Amino acid sequence: MENINRSIQCSVEECIHHCRNCDYCSLDKIRVGKHEKSPSEEQCTDCRSFTAKYSY
Ligand code: SF4
Repeated sequence: MENINRSIQCSVEECIHHCRNCDYCSLDKIRVGKHEKSPSEEQCTDCRSFTAKYSY
């Protein structure tokens, strides 16, 4: 069974690192970045460790 990191809550089920049945990440650590020059709200930040489950 894969790791469940209870320090990293996440609801992105489309990510290969997501724990499927629970809302946590399975990685030991993640990298978070921004896609706005000066972020002003949470939507301006991104998980840089995201890997899509499926690639088309
Ligand atoms: S790598 Fe990022 S997006 Fe993927 S499950 Fe972990 S925290 Fe969520």
